[in-house]
Amino acid sequence: MEAKLKIGIVGLGLIGGSIEKRLLQEPDKFEVLSVSVSQGREYKFEDLHNVDILFLCGPQTSIPKQLEKIALLISKSGQEGTIPPEERAFAKTIITDVASTKRQITEKAKELGLTNFIPGHPMAGTEHQGYEASFPELFENANWVLGESNVQTAKLEKLITETFKARLVILDAETHDRCVALVSHLPLLLSLGLSESVSAYPQAQKVIGPGFKSMTRLANGNPELGREIIGLNKSNIKAAWDFFKEEIDRLLTIKGETLEFELVDIKEKLQALVA
Ligand code: NAP
Repeated sequence: MEAKLKIGIVGLGLIGGSIEKRLLQEPDKFEVLSVSVSQGREYKFEDLHNVDILFLCGPQTSIPKQLEKIALLISKSGQEGTIPPEERAFAKTIITDVASTKRQITEKAKELGLTNFIPGHPMAGTEHQGYEASFPELFENANWVLGESNVQTAKLEKLITETFKARLVILDAETHDRCVALVSHLPLLLSLGLSESVSAYPQAQKVIGPGFKSMTRLANGNPELGREIIGLNKSNIKAAWDFFKEEIDRLLTIKGETLEFELVDIKEKLQALVA
């Protein structure tokens, strides 16, 4: 029988909890060691030193500190002259994360010399947060970004595609952050903006239908996560917004004459609303 894959998870919220719940469905294949304050798990960060794959699933701003902790544990085990390099802390571990932005975290890992850190981002989620909201099928058919693909990442890739049933996408950190600004972070801002605008118009609230509800679903999400994302990816979101505005202007002007009149009229009304 094949040896079990030993997997560490730090942070059991929506994403970490969903990873854990899926892995626990196959106890013959996976041994799971989770570190969690809210779930009161017995393991400590230090206990994860010999896992095969380590998922860092806390808030984006917590990941750089956790990478520092890992680098320190590696350096400490290196100072104990009796331990051969291949048996030192995290020597056989692929360390990955799930954070929504990648540039700062990737730079931190490089700065610390953590060559076994592979940035990751499952493009899956709901408007809910915490362990209670997590479920094992969360990643099925979702895109899951990894910063690179090589011999070292094979086990992680297999887990993503075969166990979590997600689609693997390889993207460097800069490209990832530019792309998610457009497909994820700008939609979040638009959703918040739409929601705020309508909350100032009681009459408009009376005619809300399914279209508006689906357009503003993201506005009901985790506000902490939203704040972190906007703070960490501001310049890319601004670029995405400029691009989006150009597209809207183009849509409002290239149509046929009658349509153009009506659309321009709507545009003026919209401008009056936000003035
Ligand atoms: P969540 O449900 O709020 O869970 C985050 C977990 O992180 C908490 O349950 C807690 O775990 C731990 N944590 C909280 N504060 C911490 C701190 N200061 N330092 C260290 N750990 C802390 O959030 P989530 O939605 O799972 O998001 C987790 C990560 O996934 C974030 O980096 C986010 O960018 C990324 N992500 C989120 C989504 C989404 O749609 N929600 C999608 C893709 C990626 P314990 O109590 O168990 O210790």
